[in-house]
Amino acid sequence: MKGKHHLVVSIAGAAGIYTASRSAPMSLSFLAFGVLLDLDHWIDYWIEYGARLDVPHFFRAVSRKQFRRAFLFLHAWEGFLLSALLAWWSGWPPLLSGACLGWGSHLLCDQFSTKPSPWGYFLAWRIAGRFDYKHAFPVPYRPPPGDHDESDGRSPPACV
Ligand SMILES: [Zn+2]
Repeated sequence: MKGKHHLVVSIAGAAGIYTASRSAPMSLSFLAFGVLLDLDHWIDYWIEYGARLDVPHFFRAVSRKQFRRAFLFLHAWEGFLLSALLAWWSGWPPLLSGACLGWGSHLLCDQFSTKPSPWGYFLAWRIAGRFDYKHAFPVPYRPPPGDHDESDGRSPPACV
């Protein structure tokens, strides 16, 4: 799912949480985790393309699945489950509860919008596949009709 869609979903969710709980910390941590979880794409980007801050190329590479490896350490249901366990164990503090809900919301949106393998958002699955991108995301990028700019010449050779 694109960042702007995560932002819309997270703002709506944060508003709903605030309406129900009147907790600003819970709402804000939900919003932060719902949106900022995608920062881990930068780690994959730097591993693939080297350390640079080419924002347009970054977004193009992510949307076109131009990676050979998928680390995505935060895009892991294990992380969500661990945060839920920690929140439960510590008595559901607002900051941790919001983070847990935002993490789950983000993963749920990605699970149904990015066409991963059914297990693609489990870190254990990606480790088992040696972080091979196609193991986690087997459906290749398909350019929209009329889009003839399929490559900018900076794609890794093994990408589809
Ligand atoms: Zn994401």
